[in-house]
Amino acid sequence: MTPSILGTASKMSLGTDVLSRIGHTPLLRLRAIERSVPHVTLLAKAEWFNPGGSVKDRAAWSIVRAAERSGQLTREQILLDATSGNTGIAYAMIGAAKGYRVTLCVPSNVSQSTLHTLRAYGAELVLTNPLEGSDGAIVEARRIAGASPGRYYYADQYGNAANWRAHYETTGVEIWEQTQGQVSHLVAGMGTSGTLMGTGRRLKAYNPSMHVVALEPDSPLNGLEGLKHMASSIVPGIYDPAFPDQHLEIATDEAYQAARRLAREEGLLVGPSSGAALAGALQVARAIEQGTIVMIFPDGGQKYLHETFWTSDE
Ligand code: PMP
Repeated sequence: MTPSILGTASKMSLGTDVLSRIGHTPLLRLRAIERSVPHVTLLAKAEWFNPGGSVKDRAAWSIVRAAERSGQLTREQILLDATSGNTGIAYAMIGAAKGYRVTLCVPSNVSQSTLHTLRAYGAELVLTNPLEGSDGAIVEARRIAGASPGRYYYADQYGNAANWRAHYETTGVEIWEQTQGQVSHLVAGMGTSGTLMGTGRRLKAYNPSMHVVALEPDSPLNGLEGLKHMASSIVPGIYDPAFPDQHLEIATDEAYQAARRLAREEGLLVGPSSGAALAGALQVARAIEQGTIVMIFPDGGQKYLHETFWTSDE
């Protein structure tokens, strides 16, 4: 072998691709908080370890790959979707890494840090009425897609089966393996419901007696970014309300308090929807005699540091 060929071969095997780091997140044991519910094991799927910082990297990556495979997304097209933040960050990261233009419809009241992140990745933003929340963004994305047929690939995360399938193929499998099949309860909040539907379906395929708990905010106006109050929202096409074994409503204050506990007692800086997952899991824990509860913690706390609840002592 000549030195130049050797050089080429070894160069090709160096380094990794940011998108290959999506998934395979850690499962963290909440040992301090478990002391208040010693009859259960509390495990958190730490989704902020994904390269875009949230669980939505999995769904966005699955949606893009499925659209590439089916030929729906071509090089000339612009990837378009509505998002309340994290899916947008995931699309923007993936679009940058793969060379796609990305246009996102985003309610204008999402945090400044999210807006800055989206712009830093080079995404084009269409800001929508904050009073209409994520539904306003959905209506605008549908309008843009309908007005210029062929110009956009409208990814429609709320109705796209590749969203929940991402979790069926990855999150559910990882949780089963990481718990060596001991998981008895899954607790997850719902935005599109992709995480809950896909992870829950896979875990029930492994063990039909798996108990799947779906969380929602307790009111339309709430501080639980990323979660949807289904009764007052456009219901996602991928959501089957009959699938979860149990539905729980979480109050914003309860979720904030749980996020504070996670920061102070476990050293985990997570977002409000992770707080909601812990609050829901503690309700489940108090009602059972034993179990291994896995919660999905969708993102980290960095994006929410401007909020005042971190230092409130209620
Ligand atoms: N938490 C946060 C912070 C989110 O951004 C999202 C996604 N909207 C969710 C939870 C819910 O995830 P899913 O869309 O898979 O239901």
